Amino acid sequence: IALKAPYELKLTDVHYTYPKTTKEILRGVNLTIKPGEKLAILGRSGAGKSTLAALLRGDRQPNEGSVLLNGIPTAKFGDQITKYFSVINQTPYLFNTTIANNLRFGNEEATDEQLWDVLRRVGLDEMVSNLPQGLETKVDEAGLRFSGGERHRLALARVLLKNTPIVLLDEPTVGLDPITEQAVINTFLTQLQDKTLIWITHHLQGVERMDQVVFIENGQVSMQGSPQEL
Ligand code: ATP
Ligand code: MG
Repeated sequence: IALKAPYELKLTDVHYTYPKTTKEILRGVNLTIKPGEKLAILGRSGAGKSTLAALLRGDRQPNEGSVLLNGIPTAKFGDQITKYFSVINQTPYLFNTTIANNLRFGNEEATDEQLWDVLRRVGLDEMVSNLPQGLETKVDEAGLRFSGGERHRLALARVLLKNTPIVLLDEPTVGLDPITEQAVINTFLTQLQDKTLIWITHHLQGVERMDQVVFIENGQVSMQGSPQEL
């Protein structure tokens, strides 16, 4: 499947129940995510935010209704969805290999110069250049040296290198202190200006800088609008 820009996500009357369960988690969600939009998805724990994320990414398909990327159901993309979609989760995953390989996951052709460029953009260039083996430092060895904020930055650097039009952050800052969290969100917002950014979060802090805020409650969109309107 080859799509052309601009990329728009559209959910129409989406219902979802997990297999072998009876509780309907999403009960008629309607949502359009415009190209380049910065969208925050808020809601209590268990409201269905990560479930919605799985549907957006095509990891799951709705029982009723549709989840479309440029008119095509996201569940039809399979692995190809990674061309269009990057995800950073609560605990960003680092592979047991060098920093360079970690960054090149998803963009194998990237030059060292490009690696340093994304590291600079997330504010990790100095830290990495101070490691005795630089880009060739093994992440399992360096693991101890990476703070939570640095791991998130490394995951963000990987996403920047991948350069997909849509980036989904599922509570990527859980466990960070408020100052580090703000710094990470700042980086995300400034570095992803031309991308669609979907940010799933528990709290309102930082949400004022998004274009649209959506509240999920009882499996439905209970409120929606610009941060100023809400
Ligand atoms: P949190 O803010 O805690 O991350 P959330 O809004 O992301 O919460 P979800 O993870 O989407 O919530 O979960 C919504 C509901 O679906 C919960 O009641 C949860 O128990 C249920 N659920 C999640 N994953 C599964 C699964 N794989 N199988 C069955 N039920 C699930
Ligand atoms: Mg969740």
